[in-house]
Amino acid sequence: MSAPGSSFFSWLLMAFVALFVGFASIAWPEDWVWQEIEEAMVVMSRKPPKPAKESKDGKGAATDAAVDDGEDTDDTTGTDGDQDTEGTDTGEESLEDELVPVGEFPAVPDPESLFDELPAEGDAPKRKSKPLAVGDARIKSVDGEADWLIHKVAPMETPDQIAHRYGVRPDALRMWNGIKADTVKLKPGTRLKLHPRKVPPPRQKHEYWVQPGDTWASIGNAFGVDSRDLRAANWGKSQRLQTGTSLEVWVDPIVYMWLAGDTDPHVPMGIRLGAVGIGPPQAGRLVNGVQLPKHEAYALKLPPTAFGTTHAVAHVVKAMDAFRERSTYRVPLMMGSMSGKHGGALSGHKSHQSGRDLDIRLPLLEKLPQTVAVKPGRVDWMALWRLIEAFDATGAVVIIFLDYEMQELLFKAAAEEGVSEERRGELLQYPHGNKANLGLVRHSPGHVAHIHIRMTCGPSEPECVSEADFDIDAD
Ligand SMILES: [Zn+2]
Repeated sequence: MSAPGSSFFSWLLMAFVALFVGFASIAWPEDWVWQEIEEAMVVMSRKPPKPAKESKDGKGAATDAAVDDGEDTDDTTGTDGDQDTEGTDTGEESLEDELVPVGEFPAVPDPESLFDELPAEGDAPKRKSKPLAVGDARIKSVDGEADWLIHKVAPMETPDQIAHRYGVRPDALRMWNGIKADTVKLKPGTRLKLHPRKVPPPRQKHEYWVQPGDTWASIGNAFGVDSRDLRAANWGKSQRLQTGTSLEVWVDPIVYMWLAGDTDPHVPMGIRLGAVGIGPPQAGRLVNGVQLPKHEAYALKLPPTAFGTTHAVAHVVKAMDAFRERSTYRVPLMMGSMSGKHGGALSGHKSHQSGRDLDIRLPLLEKLPQTVAVKPGRVDWMALWRLIEAFDATGAVVIIFLDYEMQELLFKAAAEEGVSEERRGELLQYPHGNKANLGLVRHSPGHVAHIHIRMTCGPSEPECVSEADFDIDAD
């Protein structure tokens, strides 16, 4: 008979089964994950909560929020009254909590404490508004497994943006929640699950009554909200803004508190607060971008693409002030592109999308007509060295891109000027090879006529992504 054969085959079969089970348990998450995902899908297929409810009866949303978040009922009291000016005044009176320093939000998830420390409603500067509801984001332990955070989607929040907010990869967020790669819009109120790497407080809904002279942009700037998001979130309500119309404004508490400070000791006077980057420089955008201000040290080559985050622009200005002190060079530097007003893809560049990349033409010798093309023999290398030093001194530079061959010329010029080898080593990658992971200045092909400076994410930019900072594709 075929006894030996069949026992061999049954062994083989079992081996296959064992292999498959092993593979499946590695490749697929536990059952309960699927359960959660299915639940999430059900939530997503439901209709979003009707915003009309709280317009007619302010109590609705506020009560829900109070229940959801276990907050006290102060908000509800404030919302009980009429919706017009009277209601606003009531809201203003209930501002009492102290301001929480933005930088002090713990990186370790403890959302309950964050809820308690959300900004007081009255901290909004210059604008009367009333917070109605707080988005829901809390740590949830499922079957004793690692903690999941449940995030309730606010209007206009995209999957990428939410991923950036919690420091997770967008594709991971999509996988955890069964969101297709091409899905950009999510229904407000959808609950997403994720393993956070940081936990900023969720967006907070405010109601704002349009004042005379308001524009979408002015309201957006005042609340730290993208004017286009603001407009879309209030679609159909009042495309032509009319005084007294109530708008739904979803603020980011971190940006909002920063704006509430009115001034920021790290930002020179005259530079508007609230311009923040979202995402990485290669796939990001800019909210309420600030244009590089006029400065004796430079001229703007392309003003429409000279927008950046408040943090980046502030430190460019500081670097320029420092450059004027450190260097005798007096010809205005030629500033190339930073980002467009709203960020996003910029023609001719891979990065420059989130308001913290800046190109500066290599400084030509002062005696030359400044219209000539940049060539190594025409560059004032010591002016460039002082410029790089000035940027380094701000402490807000991640990396500077410059072709390796140009670095050699810079290295030699600095040596001739008596700059120590140690200092040259701190700033330059040369002479350790164009792949060396050393120095602030790094090689990037094509950077022979300009330097490309990438500034850090600011402390009040919870959705700014710095992971991709060292990607060598600079342009
Ligand atoms: Zn560039």
